[in-house]
Amino acid sequence: MTTSVSINANELAQQIKAWGQELGFQQVGITNVDLGEHGERLQEWLKKDYHGEMFYMADHGDKRYRPEKLVPDTLRIITVRMDYMPPEIETLKILNSPNQAYISRYALGRDYHKLMRKRITQLGKKIEAAVGHFGYRAFVDSAPVLERGLAQKSGQGWIGKNAMLINPKAGSYFFLGELFTDLPLPIDEPFEEMHCGSCRACLDFCPTGAIVDNHIVDGRKCISYLTIELKGSIPEDLRPKMGNRIFGCDDCQLCCPWNKFSKPTAESDFTPRHHLDSATLIELFSWDEQTFLSKTEGTPIRRAGHERWLRNIAVGLGNAPSNENIINALNSRLDFESELVHEHVVWALDQHKLKNKIQVSNATR
Ligand code: SF4
Ligand code: SF4
Repeated sequence: MTTSVSINANELAQQIKAWGQELGFQQVGITNVDLGEHGERLQEWLKKDYHGEMFYMADHGDKRYRPEKLVPDTLRIITVRMDYMPPEIETLKILNSPNQAYISRYALGRDYHKLMRKRITQLGKKIEAAVGHFGYRAFVDSAPVLERGLAQKSGQGWIGKNAMLINPKAGSYFFLGELFTDLPLPIDEPFEEMHCGSCRACLDFCPTGAIVDNHIVDGRKCISYLTIELKGSIPEDLRPKMGNRIFGCDDCQLCCPWNKFSKPTAESDFTPRHHLDSATLIELFSWDEQTFLSKTEGTPIRRAGHERWLRNIAVGLGNAPSNENIINALNSRLDFESELVHEHVVWALDQHKLKNKIQVSNATR
């Protein structure tokens, strides 16, 4: 990487923030490569195996908390934040309707990785046009980068007890991204204050008790992990706690008082596709692989694959109130070729047998 800053560094930093806003980011911050306590916290978290099957969290050694090892010569990291909550969608109503499918709000529209990386790269190009050739690389959740730590250090907000980055003016419904650079830019003040106070709503409302301590999520219990990252069987004791959440979970954000300040996104890419924000479990369970692939093309849901999609929905159907349509839908998947799906369907049918037995015994009393 070569560096040649010919304009005043403070002016350039201000200009970068203005360009970032023009590109649709709600905030831009700048920090150095010293992740300090964030690196130590990551190591503690890994030691306790809270990452479960997310082996990529442990791979890459210290590159995750030493950005200059990931991209040699990196001096500064420009962090960006983009709101994703689509306007005018029902959230609590769907979460509380057990026959409907709840999909994490970030995953309803087009995959954010491409859009964000493109915009961050555009930011890099704008800087290059002003200062000449310099070293830069854009990241969006795609490499070992401690993005929340970098965002906190660059003044974007504090890390809440739910381990999410919280911005006092925008809550936590936003994506983060980074531009690693070798430009010696002035850095922003870290966001040092913690505004959670005595609140512990996220710890109390987490359906699976995954927030084991302030700022510490046991990934193995988190519904986002269970429905997206975990490849095998979902632990039986956690299945009833998943309710109708079939891809991700937002409960620890929905209950956070700071999200009353969140703003709807202006990005049309994040608008829900194929009415994924209001579909029923039965409808989504009926998708064959081809339908799944075509309806989830370009969305974050694609990553789960059809087999895990059916596994997750089977759990949701097992948790729904019993009726003939649900039992028929589950029976129709009993012969599905995957052992993983079969096992979850059998579990779901057992839940309905249990519910119906209880109903019969109550009726005969
Ligand atoms: S995403 Fe859901 S399961 Fe995971 S920590 Fe938050 S509330 Fe708990
Ligand atoms: S719910 Fe309360 S404790 Fe949890 S992150 Fe939000 S403010 Fe902090």
